[in-house]
Amino acid sequence: MSFQLPNLAYNFDALEPHFDSKTMQIHHGKHHAGYTNKLNSAIEGTDLEGKSIEDILKTLDMSNAAVRNNGGGYFNHCLFWEVIGPNYGGKPMGALADAIDKSFGSFDEFKTVFSAAAATRFGSGWAWLCADSEGGLEVCSTPNQDNPLMPGECGKTPILGLDVWEHAYYLNYQNRRPDYIKAFFSIINWDAVTAKYNKA
Ligand code: MN
Repeated sequence: MSFQLPNLAYNFDALEPHFDSKTMQIHHGKHHAGYTNKLNSAIEGTDLEGKSIEDILKTLDMSNAAVRNNGGGYFNHCLFWEVIGPNYGGKPMGALADAIDKSFGSFDEFKTVFSAAAATRFGSGWAWLCADSEGGLEVCSTPNQDNPLMPGECGKTPILGLDVWEHAYYLNYQNRRPDYIKAFFSIINWDAVTAKYNKA
């Protein structure tokens, strides 16, 4: 049983004007599809075949570049598509809102910390909001397609992630990564993030 490219829960043009249709199409249909296919090739016939993607990443041999890059790319993009959507944005409610206030002081302060992590990640990578099993929250960032589950990273559960590779924004925003980060906050699906928080 190999990994499958997930279908999006919305159309490619549904996130306009924040994320443009062409970028969404290439990002999902080319980049994410590529990570998925290469991950399947990399694990075929190895003892990783049949394991969950979370198990593969948590126990990863970091010198295995094919699984590190493509397994990370597969997982990261699956999460990314889930935590954005049309007609979202705004702020979280309930337990997640309380945890954000407790960990960062306020939602605006969280937004500042997360945006800085995304803006200052040099080159390609991701910014994350992670939860621990006690409900605590932490912002971190990882290079390339690494993620918080991998050995040597924070080891907490990622509940929100932002792709800051140029392929995620260059067509629409060129070098203006801060504008892309701002746009991301207009389409965050806080219901999906809250569901991940409650599970973590
Ligand atoms: Mn990407």
